[in-house]
Amino acid sequence: MSEVILSLKGIKKSYGSDSARVEVLHGINLEIRRGELVAIIGPSGSGKSTLMNIIGCLDTPSEGSYFVGDKNTFNMQPDELASLRRGFFGFIFQRYHLLGHLSATENVQVPSVYALTDKAQRESRSVELLSMLGLENKTQSKPSELSGGQQQRVSIARALMNGGQIILADEPTGALDSKSGSEVMRILSDLNKKGHTIIMVTHDPRIAAHAHRVITIADGKIESDRINEDVPDYCDSDNHESFESSKKLNIFSAFVESFKEAFTMAIRAMVANRMRTLLTMLGIIIGIMSVVCVVALARGASDKVIENISSMGTNTITIMPGSKMGDMRSGRFRTLNVKDLKAL
Ligand code: ADP
Ligand code: MG
Repeated sequence: MSEVILSLKGIKKSYGSDSARVEVLHGINLEIRRGELVAIIGPSGSGKSTLMNIIGCLDTPSEGSYFVGDKNTFNMQPDELASLRRGFFGFIFQRYHLLGHLSATENVQVPSVYALTDKAQRESRSVELLSMLGLENKTQSKPSELSGGQQQRVSIARALMNGGQIILADEPTGALDSKSGSEVMRILSDLNKKGHTIIMVTHDPRIAAHAHRVITIADGKIESDRINEDVPDYCDSDNHESFESSKKLNIFSAFVESFKEAFTMAIRAMVANRMRTLLTMLGIIIGIMSVVCVVALARGASDKVIENISSMGTNTITIMPGSKMGDMRSGRFRTLNVKDLKAL
């Protein structure tokens, strides 16, 4: 038996606060071993996706402990969780979640952009993965130019980009016709034979039949956990590769590279969403213009006041009788005379 790679103890998850609090998972205990192909089945709303999100560190449990390898995820900071996700997990979703403005190969590279791997290496690996999945002619196609089954294969390649030691698939065949669905299932079985641990959620018993362990969830609890005798036992191999540990850049070039990457991504997203970009720009232009107008008005007003004051003459001395301004007795003084003027 291979080692336990994921371990959940007493996992509970609630949504909402105080009176509106609803518990969705009621104490899940589960161990997944390296190399298993596990299917999680259960009715809609039973908490399968919630459980998958917790397993994939996309969400945190309200109670209980969760270990990935020997790492306790309790109290981990978002950055640590993100690096755990990058290093261990590959995700496949029912609706593929590909970025519409990127080509197939660029979509596949997305997870490794954030892992700061060398660009050339990244590109060649993405093409290699797409070719392995039979998409060698579609590397430059946008998701909208691909069929559902092809898009799902792109998303499988993306899940494998950083190694995909553990692949989490939430209804991977849910949006596909039966032929593309079995194609995807065949790929997942093959990956499992190569050593990838696979956990998938499905409501289709025919899909679950490919798994050698079937876990049934009902109302947030594990109802049954059985071994599927018809499927050969899982391989014990440990031959998954990790792209994470491959060639890394030094800190400075990694920073430059990530800046360049973020900049290019931002520009492309702006070009892809022209209307949104235009409206955002309009907002910024209006904001800057109003600041400029207010500043100009204030400057103008202050200049005008200064001008008015100086028009009275800056070199004029006014002499008034009395000891200070507003002296009540000043009216009675008659001491200023022509001699004073001469003295002045
Ligand atoms: P499944 O994937 O098994 O269909 P889910 O895990 O998506 O079920 O959802 C389980 C239950 O949790 C559902 O009743 C759903 O309404 C509730 N739920 C899921 N996500 C949230 C959320 N973010 N906020 C509140 N309730 C949620
Ligand atoms: Mg779901």
